[in-house]
Amino acid sequence: MGREDQPAERILDDAELAMLAGMGRGVDGRSTDIASGQGAPRWVARTLNFCSNCGTRLVRDVPATEQRERAVCPACGFIAYVNPRLVVTTIPVTDSGEAVLLRRGIEPGYGAWAQPGGFLEVDETLGEAAVRETLEETGLLVEPGELVGLYSRLEAAVVVVVFEARIAGGAARETPEALEIRTFAPDAIPWDGIAFKTTFWALRDWVARRAPGTVVPDVFRGWEQF
Ligand SMILES: [Zn+2]
Repeated sequence: MGREDQPAERILDDAELAMLAGMGRGVDGRSTDIASGQGAPRWVARTLNFCSNCGTRLVRDVPATEQRERAVCPACGFIAYVNPRLVVTTIPVTDSGEAVLLRRGIEPGYGAWAQPGGFLEVDETLGEAAVRETLEETGLLVEPGELVGLYSRLEAAVVVVVFEARIAGGAARETPEALEIRTFAPDAIPWDGIAFKTTFWALRDWVARRAPGTVVPDVFRGWEQF
């Protein structure tokens, strides 16, 4: 069956895309500075050279069953899909309502402030990843609670999941990934030293929910450049 026989996929028109872009930040915040529909970021596309199934050089082609170009194997038909990865993070909150942040001990964002978190493994749930990453990076045992938000970051090919979390045990300690761990009241977030735009948007959303009326900056002035 050729492409013409496939039901046409519904594609958003410019007006609809503009409407979505205007939806703002928040629980499904569009925390990105580049347009949608640009394909895989170049730093990802550069890695798609050979078929991981048979080793043949991949070609760019529109598969018969799809409406967009992919990296396709001309020998075995394997399609190297590129999908965003999930980064699972928490904002641990103390009994007095302060957020725990860490000063990053690794790149990207070395020396800047972020919430604990990391990539979701393929064999664990979101909640398990949130607990594991927070423990690894801070020494704190947390119970993930409300979802602060989901933040799409096209440049980095990630979606960052941010849970608010109750501290249930453990003890904060520096780790190779955390040069320093500190708590911050909602009106004392170190806005100028934040590592990532997704962290910026998540903290804004968290402060707006837990301490409405607190003055927060509109513009990211932290570490991340792209
Ligand atoms: Zn192949």
